[in-house]
Amino acid sequence: MAGGSSGKLMRVVRKWRGPAARRGRPLSLAWIPAGTLVIVAVIWSAVFLRIQAERRETHDAAVAASVQLASAFAQHIDRTVHDADAAVRWVKYEYERSPSTFDLGTYQRQGLISADTALQVTLVGANGEVMQTTTPNAKQVNLADRPHFLIHQANADAGLYISQPVVGRVSNQWTLQFTRRLNHLDGSFAGVVVVSEDPDYLTNGFYNLEALGPGGMLALISDNGYLLSRRAGSQPASPAGPPASAYGEMVGAKGGVFDDPVDHVRRFVTHRHLSHYPVAVLVGLSEHDTLAGYQHTRTLYILMSSVITVVLLLSAGLITRMMGELLAGREEMRHLAGRMQNLAETDALTRLPNRYLLTETVRRQIGRDSPIDRLALLFIDLDNFKRINDALGHETGDELLQNVARRLAKVAGKERLLARVGGDEFVLVVDGMGASVRARNLAQSIVDAFELAFGLRGNSYVIRVSIGIAVYTDSDDAEYDLLRQADLAMYAAKGEGKPANMSRYRIYTPDLSTRAMRDIERQQELQYAILNGEFFLEYQPIVSLSTGEIRGVEALARWRHPEKGTVMPADFIPFAESTGFIVPIGELVLEQACAQFSEWQESDPRPLYLSVNVSAAQLVHGDLVRVVHRCLNQYMIDPRRLQLEITETAILEDSTAVTMRLKELRLSGVKVVLDDFGTGYSSLSQLTSLVIDGVKIDRSFTRGVPGDKAALATFNSIASLTRDLGLSLIVEGVETEQQASWLHRFGDIEAQGFYFSRPVAPADLRVGKAA
Ligand code: C2E
Ligand code: CA
Ligand code: CA
Repeated sequence: MAGGSSGKLMRVVRKWRGPAARRGRPLSLAWIPAGTLVIVAVIWSAVFLRIQAERRETHDAAVAASVQLASAFAQHIDRTVHDADAAVRWVKYEYERSPSTFDLGTYQRQGLISADTALQVTLVGANGEVMQTTTPNAKQVNLADRPHFLIHQANADAGLYISQPVVGRVSNQWTLQFTRRLNHLDGSFAGVVVVSEDPDYLTNGFYNLEALGPGGMLALISDNGYLLSRRAGSQPASPAGPPASAYGEMVGAKGGVFDDPVDHVRRFVTHRHLSHYPVAVLVGLSEHDTLAGYQHTRTLYILMSSVITVVLLLSAGLITRMMGELLAGREEMRHLAGRMQNLAETDALTRLPNRYLLTETVRRQIGRDSPIDRLALLFIDLDNFKRINDALGHETGDELLQNVARRLAKVAGKERLLARVGGDEFVLVVDGMGASVRARNLAQSIVDAFELAFGLRGNSYVIRVSIGIAVYTDSDDAEYDLLRQADLAMYAAKGEGKPANMSRYRIYTPDLSTRAMRDIERQQELQYAILNGEFFLEYQPIVSLSTGEIRGVEALARWRHPEKGTVMPADFIPFAESTGFIVPIGELVLEQACAQFSEWQESDPRPLYLSVNVSAAQLVHGDLVRVVHRCLNQYMIDPRRLQLEITETAILEDSTAVTMRLKELRLSGVKVVLDDFGTGYSSLSQLTSLVIDGVKIDRSFTRGVPGDKAALATFNSIASLTRDLGLSLIVEGVETEQQASWLHRFGDIEAQGFYFSRPVAPADLRVGKAA
């Protein structure tokens, strides 16, 4: 089949599928990743807000802690300095009260001065020489160059002086010196009392890991610009380091974050000045330590969010993929279903829509708008397709059907629905205004198109079509009514087309339905007649023309109709043939004829033969060979005494099968003659190839005897041909003596006709005892 053309047909099918088959749009999956991204964005915003809040809280807490620690540290230093100053004041008081008796050693021994009080207590004389000191075996040193000595010497009102930490010349240790001026009674400078403390003592005593953390910092700065003591983290406290000015920017700070000048650790720093002494404290909390918890939380938050994000994205991806696959699966299913539907609605051979799709479409169309005069069907049927199919083989038959489909599709055009509804049956749907006129024009176009022969395997064949047209005119009609009407019209067209052997179309008229109804009734009558034994036989003698003696009898069927009386075969045989009833009727005839003939055989010694008419259908569809043999056996009739009369169309109908059966019958001895010879299409030369024993010349020729020259010529040629071929010859319809005597010239041939005897009931025949 040509691909292009079938493609075109498929497009027509698709077009006709209409809106019902429109596919659903696949669901968009974009909302899954989009939605997931929105969720992820919301999660991250919430996390960042939370982290920010956390950071602010932690910051605030660190500031508050540093402020609180600074004030506690300030109090602690206040007390420490106060204690140290108390010792200074006490020594000063005791010395000034009685300079001559004052002895540090005595106080030491009495426990009034101990290591708890101070690291060292020293009395420096007005000349700077150390007069007394608690450090045993101290070497003689002069402290006149020390800042505290110089300040006290110069200033009577200096009060408590706290010096920069120095390595003590007496103690040889880092010391912080709390000093006051010693006065003589007259108020003149008597020297300096020095109470030395370990500078680390100030910070170590307060340093508390729990409160300050491992990165905390404590520092003391004197108003005169000295760093008195500093301790940071796990580093040992030390007075050494950069000058207090390095801490300058921290002065006044309240929880501000600064870079430490010593270890460069960033800290929350609070600065606080003592209320009674010229000292300020600095407390620093390591930003790293204080924010560690926050950092941890932040990391946790970010980690959790990341995990959630990854899980969400993965899930979304997975879900999208799965949904995608599901949707793809669904799409495929839909596609498959569409294809299945396509298959269910398409004829495999021609790719045209099939009967199902046709009836569905027409039904929808009728249901939609009751289209009076806007819908017509053309029922197109090929003439004699079965014979062509049998003769050429089914493959070629299929090829022919495809060619026919293409030719019809060309006439129909793309817009119209053309369906193949049966073996060689096609239906074309015409819709729209003026459907009946257009249907007729289309039918004529199809008839014209089929004037052209079809080329098939090197041969060309002219195919005739019969077309029935049904127009939707009655809103009560259903699609099957319309189809039936078109079908009836097609049959009527076929009947009209037969004699002329040409394509025809016919428009349905209600009388066709009436005829169809009558046909149904007639079929029922026939059925009943068979069951009820309403058929009986008359017999007509076949005589020898030369002697007038009876040679055989032809059995002729009649129907004793309960109402119409005796019905002649012309009124029921053709109908029985077209409906298939001829097969059982033919069997009845054969049975009845054989029964009668066996009776005659017993009573008549003459070697008569029995001639029985046989229809083509009996040879093609029936089981004629078996029935013949059964009858011959049952009634003990010599096969050579039975003659079967068949029409030549029967022989031409299905040559191979019919020829085989006839051969089989003839082999068993049964004779076969060709009935009504001369009325068919077979030429005389064809006769030679036929498997027959003789011919019966049709009575239409006998009628022309002796006046009609053409008839006489026919008689002459047939007679000589049969003689040459060794075939028997029977002349039908001899009605007059004139005819009989003219026929004498052909010698001893057989004849049959009213001149000898009409067909009569068995009892009236001069056979057997009656003869
Ligand atoms: P047929 O086989 O040609 O049968 C001969 C017909 O010619 C018979 O008509 C007969 O009455 C008629 N006939 C005989 N002599 C003359 C005559 O001299 N002049 C005229 N005008 N007619 C004559 P019948 O009985 O009406 O049968 C008509 C046809 O019906 C038969 O034609 C035969 O084809 C068919 N037929 C009859 N019986 C059977 C049957 O049992 N089976 C089948 N298949 N066909 C049958
Ligand atoms: Ca006959
Ligand atoms: Ca005949």
